[in-house]
Formats: sequence, C-alpha cells, structure tokens
Amino acid sequence: MTTHTTRMLIIGSGPAGLSAAIYGARAGMKPIVVQGLQPGGQLTITTDVENYPGFRDVVQGPWLMQEMQAQAEHVGTRMMWDMISSVDLVNGSPFKAIGDSGDEYIGDVVVIATGAQAKWLGVAGEQTFSGKGVSACATCDGFFYRGKKVVVIGGGNTAVEEALYLTNHSDDVTLIHRREELRSEKILQERLFADPRINVLWNKTVDEFLGDEKGLNALRLRDTISGEIQDFATEGAFVAIGHAPATELFKGQLEMDESGYLVVEPGTPKTAIPGVFACGDVMDHTYRQAVTAAGTGCMAALDAERFLGTLDFAKDAVQA
Ligand SMILES: Cc1cc2nc3c(=O)[nH]c(=O)nc-3n(C[C@H](O)[C@H](O)[C@H](O)COP(=O)(O)OP(=O)(O)OC[C@H]3O[C@@H](n4cnc5c(N)ncnc54)[C@H](O)[C@@H]3O)c2cc1C
Repeated sequence: MTTHTTRMLIIGSGPAGLSAAIYGARAGMKPIVVQGLQPGGQLTITTDVENYPGFRDVVQGPWLMQEMQAQAEHVGTRMMWDMISSVDLVNGSPFKAIGDSGDEYIGDVVVIATGAQAKWLGVAGEQTFSGKGVSACATCDGFFYRGKKVVVIGGGNTAVEEALYLTNHSDDVTLIHRREELRSEKILQERLFADPRINVLWNKTVDEFLGDEKGLNALRLRDTISGEIQDFATEGAFVAIGHAPATELFKGQLEMDESGYLVVEPGTPKTAIPGVFACGDVMDHTYRQAVTAAGTGCMAALDAERFLGTLDFAKDAVQA
C-alpha cells in the first residue's frame, strides 16, 4: 500500500475533474486525479462533439478528453489509474480516500467529479448502434439528425423535454413509452400533446435496436398489453430513462437530493463540508453538458484555492 499526499485530491477524470485539475495545478496545488473506471469520462463513449467551444469543426469525444488530460498533466497534474472505494470526509481536512488498489490518498481538499451515467435499456443492438443512431442526449446529438425521423424512449420529464427539444431539428418525432400515461410534469405534457410534430406510441417496449453497417434503421417494439411485435423505422433513437449519479461512495457523509445528486450551496460547488467540493454532472441534474461540467470544475478549483488560503493563514496564526 502506498500513501499519496496532495493539496488537492480530485475524484473523477471527465471534463469537470480535468478542468479542476488544470486550474488547481496552475494555482500550485499539485493535484492528484484518480481516474476511475472510465478515464476521460462519458465523452469517451461518444463520437462527434460539435458544441464544445473552441473548435470550428466536429471533434471526436475521446480525442477531446485525451487533449484535456494532456493539458492537465502538462501543467503538473498527477493521474492515478485507480478507483476510489471509500472516503472519510466527515473528520475534516486532510481528507482520506482508499482506492481499489489498496493505495491511500490524502488531500487537504477534495473535489468530487464522479459524474452521472446515463441509464440504458440494456437490450440487443443498443451498444452496437451507440453513436450510430442511438444516443442518450438530445441536446448533444439532436443536431446530427436534422430533418430525420427520430424517436425518444421514456416517459418522465427528461424524455418529454428531449422530444420537445428534437422538434428544433425534426418534424417527425415519436415518443415511445411503456405505459399509457406519462410521469412528466403536466405543463410539459400539455406542450408535448399540443405539438403536431410529436406522436406518442403508448404501451410499447423496445426489444431490439436494428440496423446495418450504416447505422440504426429501426426498433423492434413489443406491445406491453397484446404482446404484438412490430418493427418501427427510425434513423435516430434517444434513450431518455434517467441518469444515475455516481454518489454511492458518499452516502451518509454528504447530502444528496431524492435522485442521488450531491447537494451544493446554490451557485457554488461547495458541499456542506468545508474543503469538499462537487462539480460536473454529479451535482447538476439540469444541464449535464461537457462545457458546464468544465465550468463548475473551474469553480471548484478556485474555491479550493481560497479555502486552502484561509486554512494556511489559520495554521500560521496558531504557530506564530
Ligand atoms: C453518449 C453521450 C454523448 C454526449 N455528447 C455530448 C456532447 O456532444 N456535448 C456535451 O457537451 N456533452 C455531451 N455529453 C454529456 C457529457 O459527456 C457530460 O455532461 C460530461 O462528461 C460530464 O462530465 P463530468 O466530468 O461531470 O463527468 P463524467 O464525464 O461522467 O466523468 C466522471 C468520471 O468520474 C470517474 N469516477 C466515477 N466514480 C469514481 C470513483 N469511485 N473513483 C474514481 N473515479 C470515479 C469516472 O471514471 C469518470 O472519469 C454526452 C454524454 C453521453 C453519455
């Protein structure tokens, strides 16, 4: 077992964690980033990214994250290939975390950037056509389906919002829901039902995503009442059945909302524990974009630097 000590321990290596690292390293905090099972985060599982500022042309998600990591390392971040399995935050700074490797990490501040994974249906073809017709984010990928026939799968607020968003790009949007009523807020439902570009298919589940080497071309649907099977032609399918924030680790130590997202002081990345900050999708169920994750990562590093300044000043005052 090795103990790694740092001013700034960052858990997670997506846009939030790496942006915090870039700012933290440039402020002299010598950050350690523990990367977790998905180095680079969720953008590494997508292809075209067209909305991250700074690039005129479409860039590839994995490439963007490699560049972000290289930038973080270039300014002095240490990357650790490990997965944090337990943390001790309640006893205050310095905070301790243990990795799957058995290594111990000690940080004067902790930045949590563990993200929120999109939930998938887990049926045949979904992974095969991911990025080739299947997506979990209309805001991210809707633009690529301009003028095409698309579907959204789900029945909650996210699904209805995604369907409404997609009408910016398509006049042929179908919402597929396994029940005969939606769970989303009434006001959203009213907007949905009033929109002639959106059709709803009730009582249908997706058995399989179908396609060929060009990508997705249909969904195999099963009627939940009659059991009847039908193939439904589509060029784009957006799975909108929710997200799972990676916060299990912090249960009992940090406050979470009813969906498991970390609660922060509004407008800041500060948790209720001084010196513990949360940024990116793990504390944001509204926007969930790479650029917003990067923005809150920057905020976490700036607040961490201020926190350490105050801590150091207090220590010096005691010693004087
Ligand atoms: C298919 C898809 C396409 C997308 N396309 C776009 C797009 O085009 N544009 C856009 O702006 N956004 C897009 N998004 C959304 C974007 O990817 C997220 O908003 C963004 O990645 C969130 O960044 P994050 O750093 O908060 O978390 P994530 O990127 O989710 O990263 C979380 C990190 O935490 C790590 N981690 C988790 N648990 C632990 C642990 N216990 N110990 C250590 N590390 C841990 C993981 O390994 C990972 O590195 C897309 C998302 C998906 C799923």
